Amino acid sequence: MNSPQQDAEPSTRVSVDLGPRSYQIHIGSGLLNRAGKLIGSAAEPVRGFIITHPLVDRLHGEALRRSITAFPTHTLLVPSGERQKSLRRASLLYDQLLDSGADRSSAIIAFGGGVIGDLAGFVAATYMRGTTYIQIPTTLLAQVDASVGGKVAVDHPKAKNLIGAFYQPSLVVADTSVLRTLRARDYRAGLAEVVKHGVIADAAFFSWLENNISALRRREPGAVAHVVRRSCEIKADVVRRDERESGLRAVLNFGHTIGHALESLTGYKALRHGEAIAIGMVAASRLAQHLGMIRQDDFERVQELLTVLHLPVSIPAISAEDILAAMRADKKAIDGVPRFVLPTAIGRVEVGFDVPQSAVQTALVDVGAST
Ligand code: NAD
Repeated sequence: MNSPQQDAEPSTRVSVDLGPRSYQIHIGSGLLNRAGKLIGSAAEPVRGFIITHPLVDRLHGEALRRSITAFPTHTLLVPSGERQKSLRRASLLYDQLLDSGADRSSAIIAFGGGVIGDLAGFVAATYMRGTTYIQIPTTLLAQVDASVGGKVAVDHPKAKNLIGAFYQPSLVVADTSVLRTLRARDYRAGLAEVVKHGVIADAAFFSWLENNISALRRREPGAVAHVVRRSCEIKADVVRRDERESGLRAVLNFGHTIGHALESLTGYKALRHGEAIAIGMVAASRLAQHLGMIRQDDFERVQELLTVLHLPVSIPAISAEDILAAMRADKKAIDGVPRFVLPTAIGRVEVGFDVPQSAVQTALVDVGAST
């Protein structure tokens, strides 16, 4: 097999229009080879600090470093896992940046999945009150979602993403060929956020996903490029209209109220983020159906699409009571009351629902929670 970086294809661009904080998302196969040039067109750092996982570094680090010729780079390695999204790891990175002479003329380059993106972005937002931040996402989840929109954060032991900021990158480079080396489970987890984009905003895209299951499962380059581009367009449009989540942006949290609770109750270990969101979307759709907001067949389409993409659709051994308690601790709860994003049809959701606890409990039990 060719190395993923060898087969460059035409790339596409999606703009995130945010006035002075606007930036481009470049999407295409083989883009790592051009990353240095693309960075040069968006920023002129004196030095670059690549924050990445050991595995990503081993597989793709050389290609990235080779492409950057205009400034020297240092590579800082972070072990894999959601548990690295912590203040402790951020503090270690501040030490390493200081020791290596990073200053405000430096760029922090997040090169990895959503964990690296959120963590490196948080460090970029806070180190010396803000340094240039470049996103080079290497998981499907990060290419279709986490690298776009400027939410950066670390977790608190009691709740996910509790300590963070809005801090936009100067550039996103999504090389779709690097997705070929992703483990099957990590690839599938990214598909959950792709499905989310269909449910919240685009019924035609959702139908396209239903009709292209085998191409998606085989990671066909054309299918992968399509889902990355369409997802970035949908997310960029939402973020453009509501950068700091004063209203509309909350649609992106579909599946997350319950999903985040499942992640925290399983210690951020048993479930990938995308898997927790898949279960959360099924539970939220079930809740909407109970409340008479969505038709039974629309609920079934959401559940069926996630099932055929081999994503989990039922809650592992956790009680509904524990999930309700964890949701109350979520940062999106208002005065301890969780708010739900609920679908009204495929392609449309409404935000901010304060739902009777008994209805939530019934929906949770319906999708597998113990009583
Ligand atoms: P992840 O970052 O943990 O990556 C998953 C695994 O894939 C890691 O073990 C990593 O080493 C490996 N990997 C990465 N790229 C690879 C490649 N090309 N080949 C082989 N292996 C590779 O998980 P994720 O699913 O990418 O991200 C989840 C995180 O994203 C969560 O913390 C979630 O909260 C966050 N997130 C943030 C936003 C946002 O808007 N900021 C949105 C969605 C999710």
